[in-house]
Amino acid sequence: MVKADGLGNVIRYPSPMTTNHLAAITFDAGGTMIYCDPSPGELYAHHLSRLGRPVQADEVGPIFRDAWAAMQRRSVPGQDRYNSIAGGELAWWGAFVREVLSRLDHDAPWEPLLEDLYAAFCEASIWKVFPETMSTLEALAGRGVRLAVISNWDRRLPDILRSLHISEIFETVTVSSHEGVEKPSSEIFRRTLERMEISAEETIHVGDSPLEDYSGAENAGLGAALIDRHELFVGELYRRISSLSEILDLVG
Ligand SMILES: [Mg+2]
Repeated sequence: MVKADGLGNVIRYPSPMTTNHLAAITFDAGGTMIYCDPSPGELYAHHLSRLGRPVQADEVGPIFRDAWAAMQRRSVPGQDRYNSIAGGELAWWGAFVREVLSRLDHDAPWEPLLEDLYAAFCEASIWKVFPETMSTLEALAGRGVRLAVISNWDRRLPDILRSLHISEIFETVTVSSHEGVEKPSSEIFRRTLERMEISAEETIHVGDSPLEDYSGAENAGLGAALIDRHELFVGELYRRISSLSEILDLVG
């Protein structure tokens, strides 16, 4: 819930949540349930160094994050970024790789680099599940809570979730690149709830992005919880959790 005070400042309050009627929880994927190890910075540094001047992960990591933010600013919020340019998601990743190269002033040729990185991120072995994920999902399912995924991701996500053996527990996996719409748009939440034949009022969405997950869910009428694993939002008025297992307290 967002309100303006008398001075025109926006104040955010955690929205009231009637946990008695909680029927479903939807989860973001990256940073919420799964992560990649080696990190994107390490993977980029490895492949950049193979194709051009040697670079270290600590040089590439911040550039990767800045390039991601820059690409994000260029896309229309809520519109599926991977289909926002001609050529679809591979073309989007090509533009991203060129953004990284230009910010690094790096000499690697972008096309072989894109090919190597696209293959590297398809490797099941780089994806990991946060330790408490599976036990939390199983405990929720055991209490009769219905589970789904809503993720801004390209078409590779369903295979990644399958390879991590966490697909089966979800009733539905909604992926932005399939939908043509992404969080924070209410539309991607609405479509998921419609598929589950469930109302927004009896659903909570859990994710690590204040904008895409928390505000997106609240604007769509769902309850929201922000997973803040690195304590970036301490003292801010989000319903914060630092581990997925804390959701069990919300469910009661
Ligand atoms: Mg995320």
